[in-house]
Amino acid sequence: MTWKEVEEALQTVKFAIVPIGAHEQHGPHMVESCDAVLAEKMAIKLGQRLYPFAIITPTVNMGVSQHHLHFPGTISLQPTTLISLLKDIVGSLKEHGINKFLWLNSHGGNQATLSVASMILTKELNVEIYYAKTTASAKKAIQSSITSSLFGHSCEREVSEALYLAPELIRHDQLAKGDIQEEGRWKQLRPGKALQGFYYYEEMTHNGCIGDATKASRDIGCDIVEEALDNISDELQKLFQLKTDISV
Ligand SMILES: [Zn+2]
Repeated sequence: MTWKEVEEALQTVKFAIVPIGAHEQHGPHMVESCDAVLAEKMAIKLGQRLYPFAIITPTVNMGVSQHHLHFPGTISLQPTTLISLLKDIVGSLKEHGINKFLWLNSHGGNQATLSVASMILTKELNVEIYYAKTTASAKKAIQSSITSSLFGHSCEREVSEALYLAPELIRHDQLAKGDIQEEGRWKQLRPGKALQGFYYYEEMTHNGCIGDATKASRDIGCDIVEEALDNISDELQKLFQLKTDISV
């Protein structure tokens, strides 16, 4: 957009959507920009649903991916770098009168940092910040279509989302099941266990993915993405009272 176009959009805009992804290995069958591209595509769909109340910023296309660094190509930010970057983005947009933000994040490894960043920046910049994991709220579609007990990275869920939103991310002839390590301390450190701790991804899976990407389909992706968009846009409409504030 030009600054004139932004100026005009700001007449009705109530909040900014900041898509946040990662640049990290996604197994043998997806490219490293996967999370950044999926976050951006979801942000555009969400922005269309909430027109003319939302403006979408450029995508933060790297995230906290230390646990993938032993696979070629991964580029990771330090958590403190991501917090600094978000501080500058939010601070700049505040100059233009935007005080409410949705950080639309597609990468699980960013969630802890976003929790800390939202706590710090809400107070420091005197703004409202919310963050959402892109498709985590699509509980019905995920429960009815995902069968692997361990999923969440380049699995049937994520590959299905990509089949729906950005099939160019996928090497369709390379689709593989996660090559999971049966032994190892990663099993002791999973969420929900007594102890939590950092482990590298190759301790859990030889080929860098989990779940079973061969079970992915565009229909599953459509169900998951659209249910998540329904949930996120409903919550935002309630939170920001979007329908009642402005008559379109
Ligand atoms: Zn991913």
